[in-house]
Amino acid sequence: MDLNEDQITLRDWLHGFALNEMRPIAAEWDEREETPWPFIQEAAKLGVYSLEFMMNNFADKTGLSTMIALEELAWGDAGLCMALMGTTLGVAAIVANGTPEQQMEWVPQCFGTPEDIKLAAFGVSEPDAGSDVSSLRTRAHYDEASDEWILNGTKTWITNGGIANVHVIVASVDPTLASRGQASFIVPEGTPGIRMGQKFKKMGIRASHTAEVILEDCRVPGRCLLGGKEKLDEKLARVREGKKSSSQAAMVTFEATRPAVGAQALGIARAAYEFALDYAKERQQFGRAIIENQAIAFKLADMKMSIDAARLLVWRASWMAATRKPFVAGEGSMSKLFAGETAVKVTEEAIQILGGYGYVREYPVERWHRDSKIYTIFEGTSEIQRLIIARAISGVHIR
Ligand SMILES: Cc1cc2nc3c(=O)[nH]c(=O)nc-3n(C[C@H](O)[C@H](O)[C@H](O)COP(=O)(O)OP(=O)(O)OC[C@H]3O[C@@H](n4cnc5c(N)ncnc54)[C@H](O)[C@@H]3O)c2cc1C
Repeated sequence: MDLNEDQITLRDWLHGFALNEMRPIAAEWDEREETPWPFIQEAAKLGVYSLEFMMNNFADKTGLSTMIALEELAWGDAGLCMALMGTTLGVAAIVANGTPEQQMEWVPQCFGTPEDIKLAAFGVSEPDAGSDVSSLRTRAHYDEASDEWILNGTKTWITNGGIANVHVIVASVDPTLASRGQASFIVPEGTPGIRMGQKFKKMGIRASHTAEVILEDCRVPGRCLLGGKEKLDEKLARVREGKKSSSQAAMVTFEATRPAVGAQALGIARAAYEFALDYAKERQQFGRAIIENQAIAFKLADMKMSIDAARLLVWRASWMAATRKPFVAGEGSMSKLFAGETAVKVTEEAIQILGGYGYVREYPVERWHRDSKIYTIFEGTSEIQRLIIARAISGVHIR
């Protein structure tokens, strides 16, 4: 279970980046609640925000490099980490659903260059379709005469929504087929008919931009349908005949990204645990360090144990995905669920250990708690992860 030399080098490099480039500016960007462009530029210059960085990590056959990288970046700051990683949601959708030609064309455009930064976004959620992605109202109609798809609808809670250069939008082509009638479309930069709606003010990860995306007669070329029309027509025909379709556009992307979300939650939990451990050794009350009380020491023991258990689940799921082992018991969901809930619990305990100092903005612990909560909500809520696991282990269609 030792990490190899490349993984150790990656971890140590990113730990230094997190410590020197993220920690010092984290509180400022949390307060500003804006996209941290200078930070993204710096990350691109240093090679942390780039296609090459993502590909190198992805090429690790053990599946661990991406998890190690994300844990360190989220340890630095989850909001800044998401400002870098929001793009990978769009990229994951292109890689999961696009043809090799589409991947070659669009993925580089999601990152741009250090001199000309680009962002991507992945839009599934809608005001009336969050957990229930089968009920999307955004429609895609094909205009045969012009070989264009026309998109109409409203997406909400979209990371990098409206500011991204490349939007990947999941829309319904045939609403009667629910999620099996959906497809993913690229909306290239500068396409008329796509705009940002309201930008949300959030509890945590505030350096990451979250907004509505409104599509009004947004026309994209036929080649922007991920996977191509022939494949979509074949899939729709199979579904209409009552045969199983191999993939549901949004679900394929979420399956691939869940352990990565868990790894970020893990980074926040570790940050809070380390801070609380140091504090508990230093803080004196009743003439002794507070860690000398079992009530505090046992909290720290439980925090460390949950973090290590979460890491093992995250690494296992990522290793299974990389080595193409099927998730027979919802292992991807387990990793995201456990790590997300661990982050919430551990950061709350860290506040308790710091007492009043945990509750004020002078210390980072309250921010870590605010940041942690989203990990039980996005990319499938904790309830939905439990549903996936329960269905997988039972074979019963639990509702
Ligand atoms: C900061 C942020 C960033 C996001 N980024 C993106 C993004 O980039 N792209 C994107 O597409 N989406 C994004 N989302 C949306 C996110 O994925 C959804 O918020 C999430 O899927 C939950 O949907 P909802 O908010 O509509 O909640 P709902 O689905 O309305 O759920 C409300 C509650 O009901 C529970 N519930 C619902 N159905 C069931 C059920 N069958 N059984 C048990 N409990 C159930 C849920 O677990 C939850 O507790 C983001 C959200 C946030 C807040």
